Amino acid sequence: MVSSLLSFDSSPALSRPLTLAPTSALTPAVSAEALVRHARSPAPRYTSYPPANRFTTALADLDLNRAIAEDNLVRPGSAPAPLSLYLHLPFCAQRCWYCGCHTIITRRTAAAETYLDDLARELTLLHRQLDPARPVTQLHLGGGTPTFFPPEQLLRLAELLHRHFHFAPDAEISVEIDPRHLKPGHVDALRALGARRASLGIQDTDLAVQTAIHRVQPQSLNRDAVDALRAAGFYSLNVDLIHGLPRQTTATFARTLEDVLALHPDRFSVFAYAHVPWIKPAQRILENQHGLPSADERLDMARLARERLTAAGLVDIGLDHFARPADELARALSDGTLHRNFQGYTTRGGASLYGLGISSISATPDVYYQNIKDLPAYRAALDAGQLPVDRGHRLTDEDKRRRRLIMDIMCRRRLDFAALDTALGLNVRETYATEIASYADLVSEGFVELDDASLRVTEAGLPLLRVIASRFDPALAGTASRHSAAA
Ligand code: SF4
Repeated sequence: MVSSLLSFDSSPALSRPLTLAPTSALTPAVSAEALVRHARSPAPRYTSYPPANRFTTALADLDLNRAIAEDNLVRPGSAPAPLSLYLHLPFCAQRCWYCGCHTIITRRTAAAETYLDDLARELTLLHRQLDPARPVTQLHLGGGTPTFFPPEQLLRLAELLHRHFHFAPDAEISVEIDPRHLKPGHVDALRALGARRASLGIQDTDLAVQTAIHRVQPQSLNRDAVDALRAAGFYSLNVDLIHGLPRQTTATFARTLEDVLALHPDRFSVFAYAHVPWIKPAQRILENQHGLPSADERLDMARLARERLTAAGLVDIGLDHFARPADELARALSDGTLHRNFQGYTTRGGASLYGLGISSISATPDVYYQNIKDLPAYRAALDAGQLPVDRGHRLTDEDKRRRRLIMDIMCRRRLDFAALDTALGLNVRETYATEIASYADLVSEGFVELDDASLRVTEAGLPLLRVIASRFDPALAGTASRHSAAA
């Protein structure tokens, strides 16, 4: 599922080289060797800047109550600022060996009921601090497996949320779906909640791969889930795939792509498998029992996915995401309104994110914070009447300036210096002269264009978005200078 990989966005796992797809649109000036070399550089996925692996446990520095109170005072166009809610529903009936999520494996559905009691308490604590006039414009249920919760408990969750918050009429409500655990009652309950977007975890349709990763999921289940969700009025379906899994080859992954294209989803997420057994020990089963595809094979699968999906008419949004041209995500990319938050690319900018449940992350304009990951400790904080916060980061003015630069590269693929001078109140070319000079190698290799007016990511540079953005990340300055020296 999406969150399984997003959880690694900001983890030390990113110090391990991850492969990215060479583009099919290589210009003669662009060498595949340079692309692969840069693609192997460590760089976060920048669902936030600074990324979550730089959060600290110095909670007093967060001054969380003040941060939430100040967030309430933000009034874009004099209206109360919107809210984006994320609920982490962590339970799964069995573990997929590749999983990187914060999950709790159990078959006891009673565990879900108790957890809903916890969420209700957390909602009440948070709600007390939020301006009740703030509309919810976005809600995402992630996991784990949200449909581990029986339909009646999802209905209880819907009632809880709608009792505490008022939802904007066009609120985007989305849910992660495991097609192996989706019953008609779930679809009805999710509809009652207002969900009209879903992300289906498929990963790979090949039986040998599915057996190796401990996630056997016949294509008929995927088809049934798509049909049921479409019939219920879900207008946007995303499919998650992963490349780099055991027993995968370019040939098997090509068949997976065809199987999934036949389902006609609106969006694809095609992630590189993040192998981090020092964090997720169950992943050792994959390397011990089956071995993993080589770096070259992984690169080839990523290239294949990009070529096949764009040939099928999907737009490369960046960072392993693809969308149909009519999809909001593709339209936001073309009209410059694409945003990025802890859940990845989004069309709903300007909303503060509040996460509920273990491990969830929140973001106000001044503070990022993450909930406790361990369920008993999370519950103990709620017992004490406290928001169950474990770590976080208060943004400095410099963080905010660098965040703007990094997010412009991630979402708009360019920096327009005059506009940024005005927005940031300084001369960007002078203030960040060292960082801008560090692009010399990427410019000469054809991944970036740079002149007095702007910095632009080329089509060939698209697979290197996070590496290009990371030149403005001082924590990776050594990496950036190594690149420069190599050019
Ligand atoms: S279904 Fe599998 S991949 Fe998804 S959260 Fe559960 S264990 Fe992880």
